[in-house]
Amino acid sequence: MMNEGLLSFCEKLPKVELHAHLNGSISDETLLELSQASGLPEEELVELHNIVKNMKCRSLKECFKIFDIIHKVTVKPSIIRRAAMDVIKDFANDGVVYLELRSTPRRVEGSMTKKEYINAVIDSIRESRNIHPIIVKLIISIDRKAGVLEAEENLQLAIEAKEIHPDIVVGVDFSGNPAIGAFDGFIPVLEKAHKSGFPLALHCAEVPSVEETENILNLKPERLGHGTCFHPDAGGTQELWNALISAKIPVELCLTSNVMTATVKDYKNHHFDYLYKHGHPIVLGTDDKGVFSTSLSAEYCIAAKTFELNNDQLWQLSYDSINYAFASDYEKEKLREIFKEWKQKLLNTA
Ligand SMILES: [Zn+2]
Repeated sequence: MMNEGLLSFCEKLPKVELHAHLNGSISDETLLELSQASGLPEEELVELHNIVKNMKCRSLKECFKIFDIIHKVTVKPSIIRRAAMDVIKDFANDGVVYLELRSTPRRVEGSMTKKEYINAVIDSIRESRNIHPIIVKLIISIDRKAGVLEAEENLQLAIEAKEIHPDIVVGVDFSGNPAIGAFDGFIPVLEKAHKSGFPLALHCAEVPSVEETENILNLKPERLGHGTCFHPDAGGTQELWNALISAKIPVELCLTSNVMTATVKDYKNHHFDYLYKHGHPIVLGTDDKGVFSTSLSAEYCIAAKTFELNNDQLWQLSYDSINYAFASDYEKEKLREIFKEWKQKLLNTA
C-alpha cells in the first residue's frame, strides 16, 4: 500500500522531469482516444482495450505491445499535436514545473515529414505555455537502430529547428535498443551536435558494455540516461565507476522503467542507492510514463520508500535537478524561486 501522506507530498512537490520520451509518455486514456482517429484495425483496438483494462500488473510483453500500438497510432501531425498536448497536461497535473520531452523525428510516407513531426511537437509546447504553469523544452533524439545517416539528418533538423525556436529546442539525445548499432559510428554526429551548441543527454550503460561506455564518457556528455552498468556489481568495472564519479556527469534515473524491463533486479537493487550515497548528481525521471503506468510523483514515492528518504531529502533531490536542466540561467533562477516559495509555504502551514 502506498502511504497516502507520502504520495500526497510527492504529488504536490514541484518537480523537474528530464527523461521523458514523448511517445512512451502517452497515457492509456489519450492512446484510446487517438486510436479511434488513427484507423487502427479492429483487432488491435480490442487488444489495446484489454491491456488497458488490466493495467494494474502490466507485463513486459504488454509494455512492448503498447509501444507497438503507439507507433501505429502516431502517424499524422494532428495526432502528434494532440498527443504532445495531453502528455504536457499530464505532467503539469502531476506537479511537474519543468519538463524536457525527447523524441525522434518521424517520417511516415504520405502523411508526415520529419520536419512536420518536429513542428507539431513545438506547436504543442508553445500552446501549452498559455494553459499550464510549466516550462517545456524539446530534446531531439537520435535512434541508434535507425543508423548514422538518419542520425545526421535528425541533427540537421535539430540545428534548423533551434535556429527558429532557440527557447524550445535545447538538446540532443541518443537512445534506442542498446543491443543494436555500434556506437563508434555515431561519434562524429554527436561531436558535431556539441559543436553546434547542443548539450548531450545520452542513454548509457543500460546493458554491460565497457568499451561503448568509455567512448560515451570521452564525449563529455552533459547528462547520462540510466547509467545502470557502471558499478562492478552491476556489470561495470572499477575504472568505469571511478570515471563516472570523478566526471560528476548527472545521471537520469528511471526506477520503474529499469525494474519493468529487468535491467535491474528490483527497486532495492537499483543503482540509485550507491549513486545517491556517493552524492553523485542524479535526477529521477519516468522514461515512458504511459507505457510503464507510472508518474514522476510515483517515482519519488518509490525512491522515498525504497531508500528511506524523508520529505526534506525529497525536496532537495527535486531542487538539485534544476541544476542539470538544459534551461537558461534565468529560467533556472525562476524555478529555484518557485521551489523555495513552496517550501516556505509548507513550513508556514506546519
Ligand atoms: Zn529513455
